[in-house]
Amino acid sequence: MEIQITQAAPGQLKSKPTDESKLGFGEILSDHMFQMDFESEKGWFNACIRPYGDISIDPAAMGIHYGQEIFEGLKAYNAKDGDICLFRAKENFKRFNRSATRLCMPEVDVDFTMEGLKKLILLDREWIPKTEGTSLYIRPTMIATEPHLGVRPSNNYIFFIIIGPVGAYYKEGLNPVKIYVEDKYVRAAVGGTGEIKTAGNYAASLLAAEEAKEKGFTQVLWLDAAERKYVEEVGTMNMVFIIDDEAITAPLTGSILPGITRDSVITILKDWGTKVSERNLSIDEVIEAAKNGRLKEAFGTGTAAVISPVGQITYKGEDHIVAGGKMGELSQRLYDEIVGIQYGTKPDPYGWVEQIDTEKVEFSNS
Ligand SMILES: *Cc1c(COP(=O)(O)O)cnc(C)c1O
Repeated sequence: MEIQITQAAPGQLKSKPTDESKLGFGEILSDHMFQMDFESEKGWFNACIRPYGDISIDPAAMGIHYGQEIFEGLKAYNAKDGDICLFRAKENFKRFNRSATRLCMPEVDVDFTMEGLKKLILLDREWIPKTEGTSLYIRPTMIATEPHLGVRPSNNYIFFIIIGPVGAYYKEGLNPVKIYVEDKYVRAAVGGTGEIKTAGNYAASLLAAEEAKEKGFTQVLWLDAAERKYVEEVGTMNMVFIIDDEAITAPLTGSILPGITRDSVITILKDWGTKVSERNLSIDEVIEAAKNGRLKEAFGTGTAAVISPVGQITYKGEDHIVAGGKMGELSQRLYDEIVGIQYGTKPDPYGWVEQIDTEKVEFSNS
């Protein structure tokens, strides 16, 4: 399939952010987007890169009514020497396809979609911020578009990728966040959709997050749905607890998102000789360890924030300070290592970084 490219007219171009130090998250989107359509008879067709703008869908589109929607989140970086790099991007598209299968949506061709993404990034390369800690956030998305009021899988879909410059995910940056252990609401149960990136998971989590925010917390820490006993994950991040010399993270049993950053952290920690356990960890064990000083650090892992240190955990009305309320040593080392690999200032022994070939692609207005 050819990718039809239509460039925005000079008058349509948006103004780029002037102060990269003030970049937030997800507020600014670039000049172009990648898009393609699917019909069950035809497969994927109409692949194009076109000026960023509205998509038109029928009010009866099944994605709106029955929630067939999936997405991904990944980043491109202006690495050292002006290289444009992606970090483990193929893993994101493979996970996207697993999400698609779970919701009876069609898979995309990973190589083709990545080619579309790379062309889009090169066309909008001026949008990639250059300051350390900033990047270009990439949001692949698929939604069911067949107009039909009745529950069954849709026959039609639209896939698109939008991109935009981002800074720190939390306004705290690398300052430790306060988390509230949620023992009323649940995010996902084993057998449900907790392990895929679908809109409904996030809609279901909003009320808990809002209530926690009102009490002064950044995020909630979810417990397992069956017993409200084991720690699962936080908002859009997986969690790692350092108790004594053991790094503990929840196992991938179906209710948590298999984070790529989580996987990178596990790989690096094992290489550093740290004991890593993917096991059930009860909130009681965490609180006990916090009380007697054995909980050395706690942090979230995710593409958006990379490593987000936790400075306080509140459970059943009791506050527990973690790592003296500061970013722990291991959290900082992990952050520096991953960001170093991403920006090309540290070696990449795992082959995680893919450089986009800036020579190959040329654009002419069509
Ligand atoms: C995206 C996401 C993560 C982190 O995944 P990464 O691949 O590391 O970005 C963790 N939990 C949830 C619920 C998420 O949506």
